[in-house]
Amino acid sequence: MDVKNDCGDVNCPRHGSLKLRGRSFEGEIVSARMRKTASFSLERREYDRKYQRFEKRYTSLKVHNPDCISAREGDKVRVMECRPLSKTKKFVIVEKVLNATG
Ligand SMILES: [Zn+2]
Repeated sequence: MDVKNDCGDVNCPRHGSLKLRGRSFEGEIVSARMRKTASFSLERREYDRKYQRFEKRYTSLKVHNPDCISAREGDKVRVMECRPLSKTKKFVIVEKVLNATG
């Protein structure tokens, strides 16, 4: 992994002063077109009683994407809850689990 020494971002959990707390999820980056923000998708299974099988449901979150992580679309990442960084952003990427293929 290409982790730079310091990204200079105060909202980076490694190099800044951002404190992590709360929930942690593993999921996939679906869009990384915004500056330092990415869109994250989380898959969960919910049991459907009528059809007696599990169905996939997705939750999407806006997550902070520090320069030292720079996650791309398709990457599997671990996110952790932090203080609200903007109106919709209260999670930050803490590590890349798997790079996107190709
Ligand atoms: Zn950093």
